[in-house]
Amino acid sequence: MSILVVGSVALDSIETPFGHTEKTLGGSATYFSLSARFFAPVNLVAVVGEDFPKKYTEMLVKRNVDIKGLETAAGETFSWKGRYGYDLNNAETVETRLNVFENFSPKIPTEYKRSDIVFLANIDPDLQSYVLNQVKRPRLIACDTMNFWIENKRKTLIDLLGKIDIFLLNEAEARQLVGENNLLKAGKEILKLGPKKVVIKKGEHGVLLFSRVSVFSAPAYLLESVYDPTGAGDSFAGGLIGYIRKSGRFTSDSEIRKGIVYGTVMASHAVEDFSVKKLSSISYSDVQRRYHEYRRLTRF
Ligand code: AMP
Repeated sequence: MSILVVGSVALDSIETPFGHTEKTLGGSATYFSLSARFFAPVNLVAVVGEDFPKKYTEMLVKRNVDIKGLETAAGETFSWKGRYGYDLNNAETVETRLNVFENFSPKIPTEYKRSDIVFLANIDPDLQSYVLNQVKRPRLIACDTMNFWIENKRKTLIDLLGKIDIFLLNEAEARQLVGENNLLKAGKEILKLGPKKVVIKKGEHGVLLFSRVSVFSAPAYLLESVYDPTGAGDSFAGGLIGYIRKSGRFTSDSEIRKGIVYGTVMASHAVEDFSVKKLSSISYSDVQRRYHEYRRLTRF
């Protein structure tokens, strides 16, 4: 069974202290798909404009991402301009152009409607709800968001949270959502908004997983060189949700924890080069090697 993902497919322009890119492949659904493909078939729903380079769609197809749900609409592709200082944990949004996303109403291909896992990648929460209403009783629904939507679509987002099994957000977004600085308290407050599990991503400091009965903390994979943190969160989600799908045990705490480690491994690959360069060129043995190395690093 496949994972259905809806989110952004973007042309990103990124500046970090180590270089810059202009209009290269990005987007929340892109990073998620390129990561989750190692664990399960992925069906992608998104929209691009007429300017979207064909080489990118061909690359996705070659990497086994099903793009029947990737619409091409008149206009320009969603674009995001971001900048990072030496503190690579904080992206500064320079410009967001919704473009074709402004009038997008996602149509879910019939064969996608029975997906048992749905990942609502970072995108307008109105679109996330719209997609969810078209899917037939998925067994697991996960969702990501960002400061832009917490600020501009707060009510829709909070309404959506009641239906979510796993909600992912980064530490600044967690603090922003519930107005609580302490992350342990913030995680517990977010659980009260409805999701069954909450994952707070802390960049190079790892992640926290909250459920009603426990908290799990996982450090990031240690890297000497990080070039572009864009997409780390979505690649993390791809590893986590992909692994849960592969294991088939959607509510097992120990499998979800393993998923957290696979997510961590996928994010570590994503940040080692600009755009999706590394993520699209690694093999499953690279993933497994890092998973085992992570076990050695954290065992005591
Ligand atoms: P992250 O994994 O959080 O680093 O996500 C990075 C990706 O999110 C980039 O490739 C952007 O294209 C995409 N993105 C940035 N802003 C938005 C937004 N407002 N809605 C949807 N996607 C976005």
